[in-house]
Amino acid sequence: MTINRIGLKLGAAVLVLMIVVLVSSGLAVDRLFTNFYDAQMKDNTQEVAAHFVTMAESNDTSSQSMIRAFAKFSSVRVFWLTDEGKILTFPGEKQPDLSFIRARDTERLHSGRSIAFQNYDRHGNRFYVIGKPVRIGKNTRSAIYIVSSMKKIDDSLQRLRNLLMLSGLGAFLLALGMILIMSKLLSRPLLQMQQMTNKMAKGNWETRLQVRSRDEIGMLGHSINDLAASLQRYRDTRRAFFSNISHELRTPVTYLQGYAKVLKDGLVDSDKEKKQYLSIIYQESIRLEHLINDLFALSKIEEGQIKLNMEWMDLKTTIKTAVQKVKLKAEEKRLSLQLDLHDHVPLIRGDHKRMEQVLLNLLENAIRYTEKGSVLVRLTTTKEATVLSVSDTGIGISEEELPYIFERFYRVEKSRAREYGGTGLGLSIVKKFVEMQGGTVRIDSQIGVGTTFTLIFTHEKKQKRGGMS
Ligand code: ADP
Repeated sequence: MTINRIGLKLGAAVLVLMIVVLVSSGLAVDRLFTNFYDAQMKDNTQEVAAHFVTMAESNDTSSQSMIRAFAKFSSVRVFWLTDEGKILTFPGEKQPDLSFIRARDTERLHSGRSIAFQNYDRHGNRFYVIGKPVRIGKNTRSAIYIVSSMKKIDDSLQRLRNLLMLSGLGAFLLALGMILIMSKLLSRPLLQMQQMTNKMAKGNWETRLQVRSRDEIGMLGHSINDLAASLQRYRDTRRAFFSNISHELRTPVTYLQGYAKVLKDGLVDSDKEKKQYLSIIYQESIRLEHLINDLFALSKIEEGQIKLNMEWMDLKTTIKTAVQKVKLKAEEKRLSLQLDLHDHVPLIRGDHKRMEQVLLNLLENAIRYTEKGSVLVRLTTTKEATVLSVSDTGIGISEEELPYIFERFYRVEKSRAREYGGTGLGLSIVKKFVEMQGGTVRIDSQIGVGTTFTLIFTHEKKQKRGGMS
């Protein structure tokens, strides 16, 4: 069983927050209404009490019947403490509960001061009691108690509390439902991602996630799919590379063995034939060296072991040296090798040897993948950068293949790769070296028209000007 941890954590946090908000707002509403009702009720009772005191102080014979009638009408109970110590009750009760009359209050009333307090009867009902002195002439030994029941208010407040509890419970259940749905929606794609990454860890890189949302989780899903795709591509190209590399190594070694054996056993008829075999041995050993160099360079780059010897360098010299080295190859294929090197191109900071290797890789590719036409090396400068390009009129690269061209072991023409003799490592070495020297590589290509690789080196602030021509 999967424990829905995120859902649980999120749900618990939201529920706690919800309970705090509901309880505190419920309490606030309850306090607000209680205070409001109480204050209103106290004001009313005070007002009524004042009327009863006036009636009692009139000292009229009809004052008792007036108080009785008024008490019936106003729904309060009136207790009159006469100066003779008798207690008259209005509208009239047989056995009134007189527990609210306390000796200390009576003393206070006799001294001419009023009292007001809340009281509870033996059934727990709330009452509001007001006591006021009654002055009849100079006599202050008479007082009136007004007792007002708070039952109605308490009933209303109870109804309000029930309502608040009910709506709070409703909101709580609604939130609970929402949280359950939300956590399911949230955790489902995460669980799918977990399953997918587990599969990837076991080497299954073909599966993909079905990404529907466009939020952060959706973006994570896309990233995992991209990761799976690039791992898959990496594995495929590496597999192809290993099968190719074993063949690449075996072919020259077989040639070397075969022709060396023929020469060793003296099985050659003429000097011409001997020279021809020696030339094949030489070519194959060069090819082998090229492959080993590429592998060695790449493994060093990958391990971060390469240290560049950075100095102010003149790109023109490097270009001329590299072009000189590939001239023969171009002539063999009857390609014209052209140079367009602008004057006053600034020196750049770079490693001469690495830059030459970059140029050789680009030039060798240009010659390798061009059957007729020309290869042009151009060096120019703009306000911002020094720009070096190698263009050819060769087979070109399709738009779909361009994004992968700099990946290790990647070859466009997989079936014809051997025929062309490449290793799939040249361009990844080019890109790494150029970036290590602070430059960027751009590629423009069109099938059947040709390819241009452009290296851009942004001018450094303290740029030395080279006046070479
Ligand atoms: P390789 O040693 O196979 O040439 P690279 O890394 O140098 O390896 O190049 C990768 C692939 O890019 C090559 O297999 C080739 O198909 C393609 N490519 C490179 N340069 C060119 C070019 N100038 N014209 C056409 N295709 C090219």
